[in-house]
Amino acid sequence: MSPRPLIIAIDGPSGAGKGTVARTLAARLGYTHVDTGAMYRAVAWMAGHKGVDLSDEDAVAVIADAAAFELGPEIRVDGHDITKAIRTPEMDAAAGMVARHPKVRQSLVRRQRAYAAQGGLVMEGRDIGTVVFPDADVKVFLDASADERARRRAHDPAHTASGQIEQVATALAERDRQDSTRKTSPLAMAGDAVRIDTTGMSVDQVVERVLTLVKP
Ligand code: C5P
Repeated sequence: MSPRPLIIAIDGPSGAGKGTVARTLAARLGYTHVDTGAMYRAVAWMAGHKGVDLSDEDAVAVIADAAAFELGPEIRVDGHDITKAIRTPEMDAAAGMVARHPKVRQSLVRRQRAYAAQGGLVMEGRDIGTVVFPDADVKVFLDASADERARRRAHDPAHTASGQIEQVATALAERDRQDSTRKTSPLAMAGDAVRIDTTGMSVDQVVERVLTLVKP
């Protein structure tokens, strides 16, 4: 009998290494990888594309309900390839704005839960272990020093970062502050999550560490 497919929740602040670790882990286990940050970014992009005001909660929630997401190596929403367009400082801010709306979160959380029907899942975000899958089989909270996170973000080829490391660090700190202090589903570590400080660790080291927690 093949082992029961698990739900692995990976949360943490920007630049903690969630994306690379989650993708590698999913490939190792043959699981589906879902980057929920890309969903918030895609909704923000679509709102801009349709000329919808990001502060209009109802209108943005309609977009979140209707959007067709493709979350592979290329990110598409309703057929538009937005892989590059969503990783800019402007879209960092826009995603943070739509992510504050409770109705938008309700819509995306419902759609995130639906991925569990596909079997084994590695889902990354800010509220996966606390809200989306509070009963996840494995919960990991990845963190790293502010300097290391800014360095990684500045060197991330997928991300158009603005200017100097200092500016990237300031922008990251501000986004983390907003994500951690917003009223609905703030970035927080679940009580039963395992915290891993990835400062100075390679992706493979982090993946191996998480695999020690995975016991199908
Ligand atoms: O992970 P990423 O940086 O792509 O996420 C973009 C933004 O989307 C975050 O700054 C946060 O505001 C929001 N987000 C969220 N909940 C998630 C994933 C992302 O609020 N599960």
